[in-house]
Amino acid sequence: MSDVPAMPGEAAFLTHNTLDVPLTQAVLDDKKMLQQQVEDQTQFIHLLLHQLATPLTSLHGSVYLLGEDSLSHDQRREFLDLVQQQVEHLQELLQSLVALQDLEAGMLEARPIAFCLSSLVEEVMGKFHSPELTYSGQPDLPDVWGDRWQVSQILVNLLSNAIKYSPTDAAIAIGATRQSENIVEVWVHDRGLGIPADAQGRLFERFYRVRHHDRANISGTGLGLSLCKLLVENQGGHIGFESVHGAGSRFYFTLLTAQHS
Ligand code: ADP
Repeated sequence: MSDVPAMPGEAAFLTHNTLDVPLTQAVLDDKKMLQQQVEDQTQFIHLLLHQLATPLTSLHGSVYLLGEDSLSHDQRREFLDLVQQQVEHLQELLQSLVALQDLEAGMLEARPIAFCLSSLVEEVMGKFHSPELTYSGQPDLPDVWGDRWQVSQILVNLLSNAIKYSPTDAAIAIGATRQSENIVEVWVHDRGLGIPADAQGRLFERFYRVRHHDRANISGTGLGLSLCKLLVENQGGHIGFESVHGAGSRFYFTLLTAQHS
């Protein structure tokens, strides 16, 4: 046990110094950081278990009921649909987790190239087959610099959310404008549910989902926006949003121009 006297507020650290050397502020800071990392990991595992438990419980129930001989054809169909939905949800969860993990471990390096953003936006929009989506890119928009596939994933996530959290048929506008010599801003504007003010500060946290009755029946993993944030930062950009609950949201992110200095 150390004979270094404990200062008020430092007792927990100082009494655990088994090397019998005075603890410097740097050592204390490292220890604090490690404790924080352990706490973050524990919380992450806790959230992950919770995310896995819900679809698994539902799957278990549906599979059990599918074994009942007395089910009508329609009831069987209904349970099979439920099984399919839960399996898709688990697949989505797994894919997002793998991508998040790779990004955090620095394994998903950006392979930046110069490319035409408008062509990419139109390509991504085409996948949604949704006439509500419109794109208005500034006509003389310069080429941007980034990993084309990773930027497409950011767009897919933001567009999926805009559609998911808006009433059917509500218009969704996508745009891109040059913000300065080196920066282009891309945005997705919807007139959907919006985000309650007290939830706005937590939106980019892993697994965070807004709890409000207006979206109680909309499913998700709570990973889409944290993934977007990492992907945007991987291109050297930043992401943000403005939103009014009940009126809609505007999510935006920045990319470097191909000719940036
Ligand atoms: P998920 O959609 O899987 O729950 P996300 O990380 O993509 O997870 O989003 C986190 C939360 O932010 C969502 O639960 C949703 O309530 C809110 N949100 C995201 N995008 C929008 C949007 N365009 N309009 C309203 N709410 C949104």
